[in-house]
Amino acid sequence: MPPVVETEEHTALRAAVAALGNRHGRNHVPDELWSETAKLGYLGVNLPEEYGGGGGGISELSIVLEELGAAGSPLLMMIVSPAICGTVIARFGTDTQKQEWLPGLADGTRLMAFGITEPDAGSNSHRLTTTARRDGADWLLTGRKVFISGVDKADATLIVGRTEDARTGRLKPCLFIVPREAAGFEHRRIDMELHTTEKQFELTLDEVRLPADALVGDEDAGLLQLFAGLNPERIMTAAFAIGMGRYALSRAIEYARERTVWKEPIGAHQAIAHPLAQAHIDLELARLMMQKAAALYDAGDDTAAGEAANMAKYAAGEACVKAVDQAVHTLGGNGLTREYGLASLITAARVARIAPVSREMILNYVSHQTLGLPKSY
Ligand SMILES: Cc1cc2nc3c(=O)[nH]c(=O)nc-3n(C[C@H](O)[C@H](O)[C@H](O)COP(=O)(O)OP(=O)(O)OC[C@H]3O[C@@H](n4cnc5c(N)ncnc54)[C@H](O)[C@@H]3O)c2cc1C
Repeated sequence: MPPVVETEEHTALRAAVAALGNRHGRNHVPDELWSETAKLGYLGVNLPEEYGGGGGGISELSIVLEELGAAGSPLLMMIVSPAICGTVIARFGTDTQKQEWLPGLADGTRLMAFGITEPDAGSNSHRLTTTARRDGADWLLTGRKVFISGVDKADATLIVGRTEDARTGRLKPCLFIVPREAAGFEHRRIDMELHTTEKQFELTLDEVRLPADALVGDEDAGLLQLFAGLNPERIMTAAFAIGMGRYALSRAIEYARERTVWKEPIGAHQAIAHPLAQAHIDLELARLMMQKAAALYDAGDDTAAGEAANMAKYAAGEACVKAVDQAVHTLGGNGLTREYGLASLITAARVARIAPVSREMILNYVSHQTLGLPKSY
């Protein structure tokens, strides 16, 4: 009866990926972990079999990311490359685009970044101004993006823009594959306070000339195509957050079982034990919602998946921030040492609260879409 009770296949996948994650652990070498995850078929588990993928869905891919994270070795670019870009190309790409990209995204030899956020639009994607202008058979793409992850390593970035004749008003997005070396496409690293392998970049696109087949899908299909990628992104961000929260919590539990400053280990004090128990419950609840969102998405119900994916991302982001906070506190002074490795998660945990859509924007969505309350903006 999925997703309330996990299937045997999913439990087995979880165990296998957990073993892989634990072999690599917190001090993993990211490129090695990426290629081993790919070689074992986990990276492209959601992509179609005919293009070298596993023929599964976001349900399976989210298990992979969560378990790697729970072992202290999350792969952030899984949210972007196979989940957003792979899904959008598999669902809306031409045969040529599928043949060109999906096998490489599935076996990890190629990587694709995803750029929607703009400096002057932020949470309001209706204000996106990256614009594509036709020039003969080509497109000329101009605009700016900010906070885009992994652009330096990615072979291409899937850029969300709008066509010139849809330049204003409600967003009618269109998606372009922009190769890293394209003339006029520059990336500049943003100095983030984050200890992660994946760096964030500001992008400028200055009349970047792209062939007609750089456009993924239909220029009129608009939001449907975009959300085909954004819902997996939210589900995968939930997986990322739950994995990180579980990792922090497990370190705290180990510590609380051992550390003794009075008669009993500190874990015997309810002031230490109860917040850890609450953090565990919150992570479990968030996972249940994530599984629901993934099951709906994989069943093709984009609308119901959208609501569930938002709620899952919200719940997981909040649960992760609380779990990390409590874990750091449980370790006392050691919580802030480099040796124990938890302090850097304080900033990392906040990412899931702000990206890819902030806590407040999800509360807005639920207020308006689910509860039917009026809008203030
Ligand atoms: C580590 C990291 C990696 C990222 N990677 C990518 C990536 O690969 N690709 C990509 O496209 N983007 C990426 N992002 C960008 C991310 O999606 C944005 O930061 C996020 O969408 C928020 O946009 P903003 O930063 O412009 O904040 P703003 O939109 O300026 O919001 C600032 C604050 O105001 C609040 N706010 C805004 N509007 C409202 C409202 N109507 N009601 C109530 N509160 C509101 C927000 O909740 C937030 O707290 C990444 C960000 C980070 C931190």
